[in-house]
Amino acid sequence: MNYYLQFTAYRLLPTVYCLPSTAYRLPSTVNRQLLISSQYSFLYLCFVLSTEVCIIGAGPAGAMAALRLAKDNIPFLIVDRDEFPREKICGDALSGKVPHIIRRLSPELLERFEEKCNPMHSFGIRFIAPGDHVFDVPFIENYDAAIHPVPGYTVRRELLDAFMVEEIKNLAGDHLHTSCAVNTVERVDDGFMLDTTAGKIRAKLLIDASGTTASFPVPYDKPGPSAKKTALAVRAYYKGVTDMHDQNFIELYFLEDILPGYFWIFPLPDGLVNVGIGIRKDIVLKKKINLSAVMDEIIRSHPLVAPRFRDAELMGKPAAGKLPLGNPKFRISGDRYMLAGDAAHLVDPLTGEGVGNALYSGFIAAEQAIECFDSQLFADKFMNAYDKRIKRVLGKEMSISSNFQKMLKYPRMVKWIAKKADGNKHIPGLMSSMFTDLDHRKKLLNPLFIIRVLLNR
Ligand SMILES: Cc1cc2nc3c(=O)[nH]c(=O)nc-3n(C[C@H](O)[C@H](O)[C@H](O)COP(=O)(O)OP(=O)(O)OC[C@H]3O[C@@H](n4cnc5c(N)ncnc54)[C@H](O)[C@@H]3O)c2cc1C
Repeated sequence: MNYYLQFTAYRLLPTVYCLPSTAYRLPSTVNRQLLISSQYSFLYLCFVLSTEVCIIGAGPAGAMAALRLAKDNIPFLIVDRDEFPREKICGDALSGKVPHIIRRLSPELLERFEEKCNPMHSFGIRFIAPGDHVFDVPFIENYDAAIHPVPGYTVRRELLDAFMVEEIKNLAGDHLHTSCAVNTVERVDDGFMLDTTAGKIRAKLLIDASGTTASFPVPYDKPGPSAKKTALAVRAYYKGVTDMHDQNFIELYFLEDILPGYFWIFPLPDGLVNVGIGIRKDIVLKKKINLSAVMDEIIRSHPLVAPRFRDAELMGKPAAGKLPLGNPKFRISGDRYMLAGDAAHLVDPLTGEGVGNALYSGFIAAEQAIECFDSQLFADKFMNAYDKRIKRVLGKEMSISSNFQKMLKYPRMVKWIAKKADGNKHIPGLMSSMFTDLDHRKKLLNPLFIIRVLLNR
């Protein structure tokens, strides 16, 4: 009966028919396939959904934008080529920014996230510097759960992303279209027309949160694939790794041969461990580094790593991905569009953290969209406020991280500093603040400050 009604509705449609997204929902995948294979497919292809905002990609950036728009009742559609839950190549470590911005959207959302995804709370970082100097650095010194926020999480991305998408599904109205891949984006008079595998969508404003793997043509500029501003990374899951930190510290190995990249070991719930290695793309290409081979070699033979993997079991296959590193020079908005998350190159160049920044940018993009509809202004000049706000919130951190990463290119100097730093009373506090306090991170780039610290003054 349901099929029949939809079928009949399509037969009655005129050649081009626009319906507001809040008033109508595309039929389910099964029904769509039925229609496409039927003699009426030409009618289906002429069908256009019309909405105020279209978000491409339901990863952290897109999903956060959707939830923030929903709060202000702005009509929107969010499309993703995948079905959720889906696997996502990631290190699965989330900084304190993640709970912070989720709580800002809604404290109840953070509670539901904790309840449904059961993330592991992580309290710090174990740094292993060249020469195998080990520094244990808590995210927050003298952590007290009663007064301090959650310092950081580790959780499978599959769970986080599926949770966010489920929250969108639970909103009133039909906003989400999965198994819906965007093929092209074209400009039209008052916005954009998207051609997708599920039909056409017309939107007054576009938020492109399609990550790094999207390849559809767009009529606006996107940050180019500069090798110096991209990192390549491989990650694998293991079970049975021994001697994990009792406060779930994540472990970063800044080893001489892979600087300015690092090898990581991140603990996950249920005894799972995420292991990986990430290095800047220009260095990978120049030195012809095989990331998987280097990762295996570290696991097999590094004196601090190999004994802990003796009885460990590889779960599934290792997988590789790109990290688009932050670059404040790129323009990430323009006439009626904004880029968010990885599509805007917002991964921290030092730590490789992208999820927190993706959530922040999705949140800020949605607030900019709300301003646009309030004032009915969508032109390039007005949209520039989005770039400015992203720069204000994330720009300083990005440029300090970028300078830090450049400094790590000199292995001998890093090794020398690490040797001097071993046993130094200032170092753990300083490194802790490097991740939580920007001014300290900036100070660490000042040679005079470093000399004073190394002299233990
Ligand atoms: C190996 C590796 C390890 C990492 N480790 C960490 C870490 O430990 N912590 C951290 O914070 N960050 C990490 N990152 C970075 C982090 O994964 C990204 O920054 C984050 O996923 C960005 O979120 P996003 O929403 O911008 O993009 P994505 O999560 O990539 O979402 C984009 C979405 O767009 C959809 N899409 C793409 N093309 C289309 C299309 N044509 N039509 C419709 N939908 C489309 C995709 O299906 C996808 O769901 C890591 C990255 C890699 C590669």
